[in-house]
Amino acid sequence: MQNETLKALFTSHKEPSLFGRYITLNNLSPLIANLPNTFKVEVIGHSVLKAPIHSITIGKGKKRILLWSQMHGNESTTTKALFDLFNVLSSNSEIANNISNNCTLTVIPMLNPDGANAYTRLNANEVDLNRDAQNVSQPESKVLKAVFDRFKPNYCFNLHGQRTIFSAGATSNVATVSFLTPAAEPTRAVTESRTISMEIIAEMNAMLQNEIPNQVGIYDDGFNNNCVGDSFQSLDVPTILFEAGHYKDDYDREVVRRYIFQSYLTSLNYIALNEIEGKKHEKYFLIPENDKLFYDIIIRNTIIDSKRVDVAIQFEEKLLKNQINFIPVVKKIETLQNFYAHREIDAKNASVSDTQKKSLNIGAIVDYIMINNEKVFIKKY
Ligand SMILES: [Zn+2]
Repeated sequence: MQNETLKALFTSHKEPSLFGRYITLNNLSPLIANLPNTFKVEVIGHSVLKAPIHSITIGKGKKRILLWSQMHGNESTTTKALFDLFNVLSSNSEIANNISNNCTLTVIPMLNPDGANAYTRLNANEVDLNRDAQNVSQPESKVLKAVFDRFKPNYCFNLHGQRTIFSAGATSNVATVSFLTPAAEPTRAVTESRTISMEIIAEMNAMLQNEIPNQVGIYDDGFNNNCVGDSFQSLDVPTILFEAGHYKDDYDREVVRRYIFQSYLTSLNYIALNEIEGKKHEKYFLIPENDKLFYDIIIRNTIIDSKRVDVAIQFEEKLLKNQINFIPVVKKIETLQNFYAHREIDAKNASVSDTQKKSLNIGAIVDYIMINNEKVFIKKY
């Protein structure tokens, strides 16, 4: 599908009630209640704190695809894009019919509602659900495993969000979207289920390159059977990790939401219309592996204690009064010529201090800084 067509679908079907980073079950419940009756909604279990976990099943095709989002509670972008996708699939468009006639989707839009509420990666028992695939110790892990065993998917989409630190390769390009087909065993052999996943990722990458060239990365494929994706891949089910990343100034993740939406439609349509054997997977290997070369802010060419250094600042996300605050914290004070930032400030060899005119220290929160006598705002307001 053409990017312009996908973009137009986004504009006309974007779910307007979802915005920003803090997406909880309270946001989703009214939307789930209003889904058309062709969508089958089930409560498939409950979280540690007894919040319901929903699945939504759409379509009547023979290709079964299992998607789950917000397994990490603070990774909400892929969830927003799922509801945009639901709006498309509720329509009578050609792409909606292609997908619904050839595929059956079972979607768990929020696997970790307690983590979503607290804006944490972990669940309410402080367990990372993506490291619990073998122990299956948590109620949320049991829910996902039960759906996997019952639904017997032909494909799995494991939906996540990534931090602002990632570059697509060792470059100054931010990783706006990342993918991975996880390994199926420790030697990371390219198994058939992996080639099938790779072929689908290559399709999405080709679409994304038209709009965000060199801003797509892949994660390293070191095998960890405690990760859900690796564990499902080891059962020979083609599994794709999606990571919604950063786009310049897009801290609300509304721009990348569209790229994820377009990736969903591209991959689902490709699965719907093709018998994928993995023969066209080679282009996957052209996607660069992610590196960690970004900070949110770098103040370059500062003089601190008579030395010329750069100052790296990273936002820490904190939930305060139902809003995500981006708290600027000093992470590094050294020469950072091999690193990049989403905002670069050139201090031009001026002295830099906090507002009390004291030197900056690692770990300090700096809502604003003084460059000589000029006040520069660092915090996002
Ligand atoms: Zn995650």
